[in-house]
Amino acid sequence: MAKIVIIGAGMSGLAAASRLATLGHRVTVCEAGGTYGGMVGRYERDGFAFDTGPGLLTLPAVYRDLALKTGKEPLEQLVELAPVDPESRHLFPDGTAVSLPNASRGGVSQALDAAFGAGSGALWSEVMNRGRAVWEATRRPLLEEPLPADPTPLRTDPYPVPPRTGLARLRKPVPWTLDTVARRQLGGHPGLTALLGEPALRYGLPPGQAPAGAAVLAYMEQSFGVWYVKGGLRALADAVYRRCELRKVEFRFDTPVTRVIVEEGRARGVETADGRIDADLVVSAMDTGALFRHGLADWPGMRPEDWEPVEVPGRFSVLLALRGPRPEGTVHRTVVHAADPAAEENALSLSGPPCERPTVQVLRPDDPALRPDDAHESVVLTATVPAQDDVDWTAPGFADHYADRLLAHVDAAGLGLRERVLWRVVRTPEDTRRETGALFGAVAQPVLAGSPAPSSGLKAANESPVPGLYLIGGGAHPGGGLARVGMSACIAAGLIGPA
Ligand SMILES: Cc1cc2nc3c(=O)[nH]c(=O)nc-3n(C[C@H](O)[C@H](O)[C@H](O)COP(=O)(O)OP(=O)(O)OC[C@H]3O[C@@H](n4cnc5c(N)ncnc54)[C@H](O)[C@@H]3O)c2cc1C
Repeated sequence: MAKIVIIGAGMSGLAAASRLATLGHRVTVCEAGGTYGGMVGRYERDGFAFDTGPGLLTLPAVYRDLALKTGKEPLEQLVELAPVDPESRHLFPDGTAVSLPNASRGGVSQALDAAFGAGSGALWSEVMNRGRAVWEATRRPLLEEPLPADPTPLRTDPYPVPPRTGLARLRKPVPWTLDTVARRQLGGHPGLTALLGEPALRYGLPPGQAPAGAAVLAYMEQSFGVWYVKGGLRALADAVYRRCELRKVEFRFDTPVTRVIVEEGRARGVETADGRIDADLVVSAMDTGALFRHGLADWPGMRPEDWEPVEVPGRFSVLLALRGPRPEGTVHRTVVHAADPAAEENALSLSGPPCERPTVQVLRPDDPALRPDDAHESVVLTATVPAQDDVDWTAPGFADHYADRLLAHVDAAGLGLRERVLWRVVRTPEDTRRETGALFGAVAQPVLAGSPAPSSGLKAANESPVPGLYLIGGGAHPGGGLARVGMSACIAAGLIGPA
């Protein structure tokens, strides 16, 4: 049995703690804040409740596996999982609207034909077939397995690009981005282009920078579905925390780790304000960039300032407490697309100022647990925005003004929310930074093979170069998002092995 200290009680830290304790190790989790969950937060007031982080779950198989490996009850007995159906309703600037069914590629194809004209569904399906090829090539190395010792093959995008013909063969090949796919394979259709880019954008990857293989994100959502956890996504963190308690994990809240102790070339524990905690192994589930940039640990041969996230966006959310019942026929997830996609791309890749009318996700779960009664509704708007420092989200009035712009933008698409607002809470990348320690409040992107952007390349391997120090969570392999951080915990537990 090893004594293991985990730094951080976000989803990756909770997942690792429950898995390692089940393997027979003695696990202590040090959490800087007063609660668990990290970005999976909850805001409650006057009978309203809101997810402040993720509002949707993809690849629930990751948490199904966690539930099975750490206890008797399957995930469905720990939380109430519901498919989001329709998966989304999309509103485009030209007034076109389309609702897409959940986990039905055939249904999506039909809906696209109806909204955009015959043949649109076939074009889309062809791109999704290529997304499937990317999924098959990368599922194991970029989701399920540790980063290989030689990750060179993962720097090549497996998206099946058609062979070049004629004079084009003589020119140096330029890597395809999602924008290239949209231009060459979706005929530049504005609606299909926006649909392809939206999941990538939600994961912080502007389509002009995302590798063509990012088509896998839309493929995964449309093939495996999008899920909601009744009571809000925070209920998932509650369930994994309870599993940790069952497995006798010790939690120390309000206990920031100030240093990983390395003696005789091995991690031997952590330093906290309350003193030293000895351990045989240390698992960092805090932001990997922050761990090294703030000098809590040293990466051999790298300077702390090298750990700067380059052009990695954050999330901006507006929590809306609304008077009046949720209108009949309201869908769970509406996406109001950017009025000018090029302006949104520039705002994110050139580091601000934020786009005035960006792509906004509007989450309106029909869940009585989130509202005081049926005469009220709770709604969350979220947009991908430049992180703190690229933009000063703390400047007086700045965030509030931006929230006004988002509300005006979604109301212009016909949502009619503004006149119903009782009160609202605005959350910026600076809130994410303050609450979770994520560098600049940036939300880590998933790792994709062949990413051309420096910020979205491969992430640190789960086994760090310091013996006895493991790295998990959004800043480590295989990157951000609930499914991937859950997998990072699974991979690290596999590397550490049973007691
Ligand atoms: C607004 C928003 C919307 C999102 N939407 C989605 C979505 O729909 N779907 C999806 O899959 N993902 C989404 N994400 C991303 C997802 O929430 C994250 O990728 C994931 O929760 C990160 O988990 P983590 O464990 O890596 O890190 P975190 O949740 O950041 O947890 C890190 C923990 O470490 C603690 N910590 C930091 N420093 C120290 C220290 N020195 N000592 C002790 N503890 C420390 C922090 O307090 C924190 O609790 C969203 C994120 C945000 C912010």
